[in-house]
Amino acid sequence: MAGVLLTGGNGFLASHILDLLLAQGRSVVTTARNEEKADQIYKLHPDLSPNQLRVIVIQEFTSPGAFDKCFEWDTQFDVVIHTASPFRYAVTDIKRELLDPAITGTTLLLKTIQDKAPSVKKVIITSSFASILNSYKENSCPEHVYSEDNWNPLTMDDAYLNPLNGYRASKTFAERAAWEFMKTRRPTFSLVTMCPTLMFGPVVHPPPTLDKLNTSNQRVRNFIAGDYKVEIPDTGASFFLWIDVRDAALAHVKAMDASKCENKRFLLTAGYFSNKEICEVIREFCPEYEERLPEKNIESGGYPKRGLYGFDNSRASKELGLTYRTLTESITDTVVSLQKLQKQYQEL
Ligand code: NAP
Repeated sequence: MAGVLLTGGNGFLASHILDLLLAQGRSVVTTARNEEKADQIYKLHPDLSPNQLRVIVIQEFTSPGAFDKCFEWDTQFDVVIHTASPFRYAVTDIKRELLDPAITGTTLLLKTIQDKAPSVKKVIITSSFASILNSYKENSCPEHVYSEDNWNPLTMDDAYLNPLNGYRASKTFAERAAWEFMKTRRPTFSLVTMCPTLMFGPVVHPPPTLDKLNTSNQRVRNFIAGDYKVEIPDTGASFFLWIDVRDAALAHVKAMDASKCENKRFLLTAGYFSNKEICEVIREFCPEYEERLPEKNIESGGYPKRGLYGFDNSRASKELGLTYRTLTESITDTVVSLQKLQKQYQEL
């Protein structure tokens, strides 16, 4: 079986993709940003030979030739999955910390594949619903149905207004650059972009500390830490749409072999969620946290009264056969996973 190059193998999503690829017996080369993170990936898969799993350290995706090392081994790749991109809001330099690694990282990787890896048939890039959502529209727009046909019209000027815009622009401009590359450079590989909504679910690659937990799971952690006891924050800064990380990972892996799945975007979502619903799942299924949760009849954190935008996720169901876990399963598994991490850190 030919090999797969997967960027950012220690990430929340990528570590699930890595597990699925290894379970299929694929030979995987993945990347991490330093030796310590590379060692952690090896530690999670102790019995594999370098032919089965190899981790390449790439500190900066923006350095010229950054991806060259990935193609210096015997592995013949037929697929590249590019997930690594900054997803955090605690940034001070939007260009350096969000835009450049996302946009330059994507275009440099595509150029390197075209120049050095003629065996690659398909490139799958993790974009985001951030590149579909219209940042200038209110969430309460029931007349609008989001699908793969939509693009976020956010401008580069507005990207610099705040980190939320910066992140959304990093995803939008990186994905646009990838499609532009396909049009102008006409490579022999095809492109698929995945546009997942907010991802929850178990963490398989432990972060170095709980403070470094991936961004999307942080709100679940905040509930069980008691941070939202007085008021549940508005869900609106995120998408009101979600997916379990295991289903999003499976979508990437299914897209590798689906023959008709070429040169397309996929909107990935299980449906709507609100912060209040997360709270109620935790209250019902993890009752040990009751004292840290807000009162049951609290008003904040729900859905807007005028209703929400619509969404069309039928392409992923039809073409990838994707089915979705429920919010209850996803959130309870996230809580169990966080409990395990907490225990692990206390034992250190
Ligand atoms: P994550 O756990 O933070 O993983 C991100 C990965 O990207 C990590 O390997 C990280 O390396 C790497 N990375 C971050 N900044 C980088 C930089 N400047 N240069 C090179 N690599 C960098 O996040 P995730 O949730 O798994 O996200 C994976 C992908 O899904 C991203 O493309 C994200 O935009 C997209 N996405 C996520 C969600 C969500 O809700 N989680 C929703 C839609 C789309 P370090 O560990 O060394 O920082």
